[in-house]
Amino acid sequence: MPENLRDAVEDVILNHRDDATERLLEVAEQYKDQKSGAAAKSKDLSWRESDVNKRLEYALVNGVDEFVVADTEEARLSATRPLDVIEGPLMAGMNVVGDLFGAGKMFLPQVVKSARVMKKAVGHLVPFIEEGKEGDLRANGKIVLATVKGDVHDIGKNIVGVVLQCNNFDVVDLGVMVSCDRILEAARREKADMIGLSGLITPSLDEMVHVASEMQRLGMDLPLLIGGATTSPAHTAVKIEPCYEGPVIYVKDASRSVGVAQALIEADTREAIVAKNRKENARRREQHAGKKRLSPQLSIAEARGKKYAVDWDRYTPPVPTFLGSRVLDDVDLGVLRDYIDWMPFFNAWEFHGKFPQILDDATVGEAATSLFEDATAMLDRIIDEKWLTARAVVGFYPANSDESDDILIYRDEGRTDVLERLVHLRQQRAKGAGQPQSCLADFVAPASSGRVDYLGAFAVTAGIGIDEHVARFEKAHDDYSAIMLKALADRLAEALAEYVHERTRKEFWAYARDEQLDNEALIAEHYQGIRPAPGYPACPDHSEKGKLWELLDVEAAIDLRLTESFAMYPTAAVSGFYFSHPDARYFAVGKVGRDQVESYAERKGLSLEQAEKYLAPNLGYAPGDA
Ligand code: SAH
Repeated sequence: MPENLRDAVEDVILNHRDDATERLLEVAEQYKDQKSGAAAKSKDLSWRESDVNKRLEYALVNGVDEFVVADTEEARLSATRPLDVIEGPLMAGMNVVGDLFGAGKMFLPQVVKSARVMKKAVGHLVPFIEEGKEGDLRANGKIVLATVKGDVHDIGKNIVGVVLQCNNFDVVDLGVMVSCDRILEAARREKADMIGLSGLITPSLDEMVHVASEMQRLGMDLPLLIGGATTSPAHTAVKIEPCYEGPVIYVKDASRSVGVAQALIEADTREAIVAKNRKENARRREQHAGKKRLSPQLSIAEARGKKYAVDWDRYTPPVPTFLGSRVLDDVDLGVLRDYIDWMPFFNAWEFHGKFPQILDDATVGEAATSLFEDATAMLDRIIDEKWLTARAVVGFYPANSDESDDILIYRDEGRTDVLERLVHLRQQRAKGAGQPQSCLADFVAPASSGRVDYLGAFAVTAGIGIDEHVARFEKAHDDYSAIMLKALADRLAEALAEYVHERTRKEFWAYARDEQLDNEALIAEHYQGIRPAPGYPACPDHSEKGKLWELLDVEAAIDLRLTESFAMYPTAAVSGFYFSHPDARYFAVGKVGRDQVESYAERKGLSLEQAEKYLAPNLGYAPGDA
C-alpha cells in the first residue's frame, strides 16, 4: 500500500487523530479518480486554506460537496444563529453562482451541482434551526410546480425546481400526474406567488387549458407559467391565455425560468413583464389567425387521390420469421451502451450542439466534458450494479391497408378475422405538384393489391427498478444524480429501441440480414424501414398506443403501463410500429380538416368531440365553428 494511504487508513482504524476521517477522504479522492478512469488530475486543495466563507463559496461555485458539511458546521459554530449561515455565506455563494449563470459563465449541470452542495449544507443546518425555533427562512417567493394529470415526465420540471431553489425561491414540487384540484389546492394552502405547469405529451396541453379555466372559475389571479416539450408560445397564447385573466407566461427553458419568476416577484418589474407578455401573446394570436386563412387545404377525398404510390405489382413485402409477440427479458445494458445517441442527453441539460464536437466547444466544452464524465461514471455503476432492467416486447402481424387510410391487423394468415384496426391520418395541406399527400397506411400493401404484407409493433423500457435509486438520491438531497439517472435511463430506452429495431431488420423480420451499420449510421437512420411512435408527427394521436398495448399485451409482458393520457411509465420507454417498406419515411401530418376528423372519429368509433380532443394540436379548424 502506498505510504500516504496506509497512514491515512491507520489513523482512522486506530483513532489516531480527530481529523482522520477527513484526511482519509482526501486521499480516497485520488483513488476514486483512478477507478473512474478520469484523467489523473492532481487535485488542487489550496482553496481549503482560505477562510470558511470563501471555502463555502468555492464549494458552491465548483459544486464540490466533499467538505461542505464540515465547513457549514464550522460556520455555524461561529455564527449567532444557524440561520445566519444560510442567509450569510451560503446565500452569498449562491448569488455568485446565479451571477455566473446569468452571465453565461456557468451552465445548467454546474448549477444543479451547486444546488446539491447548497442542499447538503442546508440539510445539516435544518435540525439546529428547528431546535432554535427561529422561524422560517425568508424566501424570494413561492412557486407550486407540477407535471399535469396524465403526464409523467419530470426531468425538465425538476431542473426548473432546482434552478429556482438556487435563486432562493421556495419550491413546492407536487411531482407528476397531479390533478388540477391538487395543484390549485396546494397553491392556496401554500399561499404561492405563482404556479408552474409542465408537460411533455400533447394531451397535457388540454389539461393545462383546464387548469387555467379552473383558476378563472375560482377567481384566482396568480401568474401561471407554462413549460415542457409540447408546450409552445403559440399554444399558450391561443389556447391557454384566453381562458384566464391572470398572467399566463410561456417559459422556454429552465435557464429562463429564473428571470421570469424573479421579474414577477419584484414589485417594480412585475407590471412590465406582465404587460409585455400580454402584448406578445396578443401578437401571437393575430399571427395564428392570419396563418389559418392562408394555406389551402384539400378535401380528404382529394388528398386520398394523391397518396404515396407504391407499385405493389412489382414489390413483394418480406415475411417475418415469426408471427405474434416475443419478449426480450433483461437485455444486457452493456450492449445497449454502444447504441446510445448522446446528443439528446446534452439537450436535456440545455447544451445545444452536436456530439462529440460539443466536448471541445470553446464556450461550453469544459462543462460538457465534466457532465459527460459524470454521466459515464454513473453509467458504469448502472451497468455493473444492475440498477436498471431493460425489457422489450416485439410482435409481427399479417396486415393490409384499406381505402380509408386504416391498417388492418389480422388474427392470422387467413386474413379474414380483423384483430385490430389502426387508424391513420393523411396530410391535407396542399403540397407541390407531384408531391404525395402522405399517410403511414400508404406504406402497407392495400388489401386490393392482393399482396400479403405485415406490420411490426414494439414497446421497450429501460426504467424497471429506477424508482428506488431516484428515491435514494432525492433522500440525500442529490437532485443532480437523480436527474442524471433519469436522463441516462431515457438514453438506454432509446438505445434499446434502436437495438431491437436492428434485430428486427436482421433477425426477426429479417429483410436486411446483411446490414452492417455503425452507431452513427443507425442514429442517422440509414436503414430500411421506420418505427413511427404514436404521438409523433406522422401519427400524432397518442390514444392509438392503447391498441399497441392490447396487441402486445405490453403491461403483462414487460410491466410498462399507460396513464389515462397515454403517457408511458416508467418514463424511460419507447413504443411504436415497424414498417418495412424501403420507401417508408417519417413526415408530419400537420393540420387536418373537419371532413377527415369526421371520418377518423367514425373509423375509431368515437364521437366527433372525442376525436377532436385527441387531435387537438392538429385541427386545421376551430371545433364548434359552423
Ligand atoms: N436517436 C434518437 C431517436 C429518437 S427520435 C434518440 O436516441 O433519442 C427518432 C424516433 O422518433 C423515431 O425512431 C420514431 O420512433 C420517432 N419519430 C420521429 N419522427 C417521427 C414522425 N414524424 N412520426 C412518427 N414518429 C417519429
